[in-house]
Amino acid sequence: MEPLSVVERTEVVIVGAGPTGLTAAVRLAALGVPHVVLDSALEPTRTSNAALVHAATIELLAALGLGEELVRAGRRVHRIGMVDRGRPLVRVGLTGLPSRYPFALGVPQSTTEQLLLHRLAELGGSVRRGHRVTSVRTEGTRHVVAGTVEPDGGAAGFAVSARYVIGADGAHSTIRSATGVGFPGETYPSQFVLADVALSTAAGPDDEATINLSPEGVTVLGRLPGPNHRIIATVGPTATVPEAPDRQFVDALLAQRGIAARSTAEPVWSSRFRVHHRVADRFRVDGVFLAGDAAHVHSPAAGQGMNTGIADAYDVATRLGAVLTGHADEPVLDGYERQRRAAALEVLAFTDRLTKLAMLENPLARLGRRVAAGTVLRFPWPLQRRITMWVSGLGRSPLRQDLPATGEPSLRVGP
Ligand SMILES: Cc1cc2nc3c(=O)[nH]c(=O)nc-3n(C[C@H](O)[C@H](O)[C@H](O)COP(=O)(O)OP(=O)(O)OC[C@H]3O[C@@H](n4cnc5c(N)ncnc54)[C@H](O)[C@@H]3O)c2cc1C
Repeated sequence: MEPLSVVERTEVVIVGAGPTGLTAAVRLAALGVPHVVLDSALEPTRTSNAALVHAATIELLAALGLGEELVRAGRRVHRIGMVDRGRPLVRVGLTGLPSRYPFALGVPQSTTEQLLLHRLAELGGSVRRGHRVTSVRTEGTRHVVAGTVEPDGGAAGFAVSARYVIGADGAHSTIRSATGVGFPGETYPSQFVLADVALSTAAGPDDEATINLSPEGVTVLGRLPGPNHRIIATVGPTATVPEAPDRQFVDALLAQRGIAARSTAEPVWSSRFRVHHRVADRFRVDGVFLAGDAAHVHSPAAGQGMNTGIADAYDVATRLGAVLTGHADEPVLDGYERQRRAAALEVLAFTDRLTKLAMLENPLARLGRRVAAGTVLRFPWPLQRRITMWVSGLGRSPLRQDLPATGEPSLRVGP
């Protein structure tokens, strides 16, 4: 690698331009804070990964100026239903949520990232692609982020010095490793199958995300924009699952679980994966902050991963913006780890419980699960409200907690 004679200076370096890093970049750009965004990937996400955007996230993205476009691009989900082998157990409505957006949105992660990138460009920002960060070191009150520029085969190096660093570089975060922060947790034994596929009409109402229970596993169905449904299903730890499940596999899985819908084409995208649940021991080391998957990973139950990362990013970027524009003093930065680590632990605990419920193999335990679902039906209030507030993320949204003033007009978050 060539020696680095000039180190560029900025206020904030964001490592990673996934949904978390992009949200932080848009927020900093909106507050007029100089920053640099680095990503090793040569292009943004092309797949639909995180396909459910909850009400709290729509509010946050609306605060960044892309609410209308997001709502237009997505498909509204008004209910979450639970079905046991075709027999409806519970329907929990989202329409009573205390938000201007009383619904969730089915929208591919690639679309959400495109909207964030577009907004960043409108605000004069950009992403430096092909920039792989390999180290971060502290020099006095600043942090130097260094790495290689990949299109040049790693021959050229770069170094950027900043007052603060946001590590939004995903589950295998280099920034987390470089700062020596632990990432304890476990991997679930079950495998998960994902498919985006067009289904026959028997898949259920278009505005409902349906959780289907069966002895073979849990299958979640939700409608995406366009002709496809998103299917996520748990399968046994030793089951043979192809790397990219095809139409035949999907139809056999649906039939085995008593779900009447069948595919009408090959999946446009499918995959099998295992799920980890981990939370970083610390979300901050001096001026280096961890956010999104770099700080926490959990099961896809209730689709919380990207949503929690976007909330982290909004929180940390607002605090950094307030300090760097002179509206607040450094101690407000302490609130980031306090609020967002607590939020991540809450999400992890809830998704862990849901995932373990989904993986139950013992018939008696599964009977208990059906009875528990019936209890939610019999006591709709306040149990259902607690569930919807939790799933929507509104209860732990940074917009509804204490964030420092940044000199902007205050936001209305209610209905
Ligand atoms: C199949 C699947 C389905 C999912 N479904 C859902 C769902 O329904 N709902 C939900 O909320 N979440 C879901 N998730 C999780 C969601 O996709 C992640 O939580 C989300 O992408 C995390 O965003 P992030 O920006 O924190 O990290 P990432 O999206 O992982 O982005 C990290 C970025 O950092 C870059 N990077 C990594 N290392 C470096 C480095 N050393 N130098 C520079 N750049 C680097 C990467 O190129 C990447 O662009 C799903 C995930 C998968 C895989």
